[in-house]
Amino acid sequence: MNSPISLNLTRADLIVSHNFIAGNWQPSLETNPSTLAVTDPSDASLIAQVPDSGAADALAAIDAAQHAFSDWKATPAKERANVIRRWNDLILAHKEDLGKLISREQGKPLAEGHGEVIYAASYVQWFAEQATRANGEIMLTPDRSKRLMAIREPVGVVAVITPWNFPAAMITRKIAPALAAGCTVVAKPAEDTPLTALALVKLAQEAGVPPGVLNIVTTSRERAAQVVDVWLADTRVRKISFTGSTPVGKHLAKASAPTLKKLSLELGGNAPFIVFEDADIDAAVEGLMVAKFRNGGQTCVCPNRVYVQTQVHDAFVKKLAARVAALKVGPARDPSSQIGPMINPRAVEKIERHVQDAVSKGAQVVTGGHRIERDDAPLAAYFAPTVLTEATPDMACSCEETFGPVVPVTRFDTEAQVIAQANGTPFGLAAYFYSQNPARIWRVMEALECGIVGINEGALAAEAAPFGGVKESGYGREGSVHGLDDYQHIKYFCQGGLG
Ligand code: ADP
Repeated sequence: MNSPISLNLTRADLIVSHNFIAGNWQPSLETNPSTLAVTDPSDASLIAQVPDSGAADALAAIDAAQHAFSDWKATPAKERANVIRRWNDLILAHKEDLGKLISREQGKPLAEGHGEVIYAASYVQWFAEQATRANGEIMLTPDRSKRLMAIREPVGVVAVITPWNFPAAMITRKIAPALAAGCTVVAKPAEDTPLTALALVKLAQEAGVPPGVLNIVTTSRERAAQVVDVWLADTRVRKISFTGSTPVGKHLAKASAPTLKKLSLELGGNAPFIVFEDADIDAAVEGLMVAKFRNGGQTCVCPNRVYVQTQVHDAFVKKLAARVAALKVGPARDPSSQIGPMINPRAVEKIERHVQDAVSKGAQVVTGGHRIERDDAPLAAYFAPTVLTEATPDMACSCEETFGPVVPVTRFDTEAQVIAQANGTPFGLAAYFYSQNPARIWRVMEALECGIVGINEGALAAEAAPFGGVKESGYGREGSVHGLDDYQHIKYFCQGGLG
């Protein structure tokens, strides 16, 4: 194996190569410990090695989290909030280093890496504030001799399992509310991007999160199930918060049923993006560029299917194609890159398969449609930003998330027809539409089967908003005033004999 490349971080110690359990940075506890190479997806150069953990590490993490739980639960909310707030300050103070780390291990352009740090921190700040507002309630009594009250309590140990596309924000969006609620955490970041998560945990330690309250173990994809199966089976783990694919989400739901854990599942999407004939076409093109090409199209809320009403179809496609063809593709380390490499060869193969399938079923390639070979990227990790027209429901790109820079466009005639098409999927995370007709705006917003709707807007994420899906896109809401609910249960108590 080559020696690691240097990222020239201000704080080189933010690149960590150990698990963090019970307040200690440690190698894997497995009898024959092995490691996992973390690489830059643009050229497969080695960044660092982390533990390829197994069941022993998973169990040690639960032991630590369970041991720390009673004290963290009893810690006054204001003290917990102060620790979380310090974590937020440290994340922002290390924005440059964290942004660099995110973009190098995940592949998103550097500016997006820095943007993700701010986005990730916004959840930490939000939940520091929410921690102090998780009040109980006193109900009006039906009986003069009784008083009825309810308080919110932390559920216990929470297992956090995250994907690679937002290596920082997915971690903070789960860990911050867990800590705010008074839960303790065992976390497993995605195998492609563990370094950002480890760096964030290091900053949490520096912020004063007590030993055992936050534990993290890293694994390869091959051993992910070994770690997570321990958490699924253990009665001490009371909740799982997962963002990732629908098949893995369904597996977690099934496997956690015997111990009836609480679950938050933020799963795959297949977002429709609808442009009505009464839309501002320039705004719609702009909104699609923002929503679709963030992170190279590797987001669960990015538009996967674009429907354009016949009257404006050709004008929209022409403007869109010009914008897409001008996107600059290149490695994250090049500040002028707008689309980075895809996360791994598996991802590029899927995108290529979707495009070839669409073309074989009659789609037209307006721009792109192929891999980009670069001398500095022997693995051909790049896919050209692509616009397809004449997309139909039987194409893989219409039924599955492509998770890449591909826009399949379908023309439609009526509102009823496009609503049926938009809803004709098992998924229901995000949907977008552009229209300037107020009556239609309400009608369509109400008719769409999804958890998040963008109306004349492509950028929807905000810590104050409830993020989550319906149907097979999962359940639970992250962020917003509802974001603590999944980490708490409500305890009702009744005092009698009062007269
Ligand atoms: P993607 O295809 O985008 O990588 P996944 O759902 O496969 O999405 O991965 C999301 C997270 O789930 C990652 O942390 C991954 O390691 C984890 N994971 C994958 N397979 C399993 C499994 N069988 N059991 C538990 N976790 C898994």
